[in-house]
Amino acid sequence: MFESLSDRLGKIFSGITGRGALSEADVQAALREVRRALIEADVSLEVVRAFTEQVGQRAVGAEVTRSVKPGQQVIKIVHDELVAVLGEEAVPISLNAPAPVPILMVGLQGSGKTTTTGKIAKRLKDKQNKKVLLASLDTRRPAAMEQLQTLGGQIGVDVLAIVPGQSAVEIARRALSTARTGGYDVVMLDTAGRTHIDEELMAETAEIKRVSNPHEILLVADSLTGQDAVNLARSFDSRVDITGIVLTRVDGDGRGGAALSMRAATGKPIKLIGVGEKMDALEDFHPKRIADRILGMGDIVSLVEKAAANVSAEDAEKMAKKLKKGQFDLNDLMGQLQQMKKMGGMASLMKMMPGMSGMAKNLPADRMGDKVFDRQVAIIQSMTKKEREKPDLLNASRRKRIAAGAGVEVSEINKLIKMHRQMADMMKKVSRGGPGGLANMFGG
Ligand code: GDP
Ligand code: MG
Repeated sequence: MFESLSDRLGKIFSGITGRGALSEADVQAALREVRRALIEADVSLEVVRAFTEQVGQRAVGAEVTRSVKPGQQVIKIVHDELVAVLGEEAVPISLNAPAPVPILMVGLQGSGKTTTTGKIAKRLKDKQNKKVLLASLDTRRPAAMEQLQTLGGQIGVDVLAIVPGQSAVEIARRALSTARTGGYDVVMLDTAGRTHIDEELMAETAEIKRVSNPHEILLVADSLTGQDAVNLARSFDSRVDITGIVLTRVDGDGRGGAALSMRAATGKPIKLIGVGEKMDALEDFHPKRIADRILGMGDIVSLVEKAAANVSAEDAEKMAKKLKKGQFDLNDLMGQLQQMKKMGGMASLMKMMPGMSGMAKNLPADRMGDKVFDRQVAIIQSMTKKEREKPDLLNASRRKRIAAGAGVEVSEINKLIKMHRQMADMMKKVSRGGPGGLANMFGG
């Protein structure tokens, strides 16, 4: 069963709350899990090492926001850093050159070059009203040329006529002159690939580049490329100086580690992602989504939702049992106060609870501050065990004693007891309220 990074970090940091800053030891423990998550997402080891080092430097000494746990804070730092490395925003394909603008598609065989060529052409035609010419330079496989012809027909984009016996370089030259005389805005050159990188492939790609002088050279790569991603991206980039990357098969269940590897290895932007076999299954690259995916977080749920999930199952069960019996003593109130403080205040918590949102309004705003929580906890701690379990015992003389012990006015004790009574009444009502009631909320 896949365990998300947040679950793992939650374990490391369980029991640690209220820290001012992340310590070296906390961060080292967290980084071990981050490293594991990245390796599981198929990020190249070399990139994992560099990345975790970078995150480590940012994380040590980072302030932990009061309302979040250290694990969440680390995830935030890792996530932000991932987004930064992946590139902040979608970089569009540039057509900022004299027409016809040549676009060269490179990559291994089967990576999705021909399919992506069709997808991009369709997008340029439909969304930017461009006149596009496609040309297949795949001389080794006649079927590949026919594949592009068929695709062109489907999307209504012209494809250069097939002339048997021509070399890739000759076809490239012919494509350019046809595009020039035919008044095309863009000419896309779909190259042949190999199943692996070799010198012949690189030499041919470099020669095609030389004769066609492409404005964009897009490396098409399968998002499921694992440890080879760095080598693949670096080989093409050092030989032909790519201008961008298109990741394909992002619709599969890979975790997208290749995106980080290739971006880190080349510094070149990931421009587009392929999310299916159909001609419209092409999307802009959003670094945040890939970062979520690499970390295994799906959509990052809001902090409050996360904090709410932090109520441990055991506590929740105990609480549910007590509520069913109509019991809610001052120990429970103290536990709730401490929990609520972690979750960012009572008002925000109550708003989320069925039947409790009305009560949130009755609580004066100044009761929500952390200091108030601390004082209320101090008051309860000044009570005896018996008093906490049976608040009815709290007569005037006991209240005076507790006030002195907690260093507050008696009126504060009265307010707290009143609040407890209100909450106990409310909880009794809601816990009898059937499905959706408070007892349910606490796991009953
Ligand atoms: P090429 O050899 O690099 O030209 O690769 P092709 O374009 O012929 O694609 C190889 C296979 O991958 C084909 O069956 C495509 O339909 C499929 N393919 C390409 N891109 C995607 C994608 O983004 N998602 C999915 N699921 N399949 C894709
Ligand atoms: Mg092809």
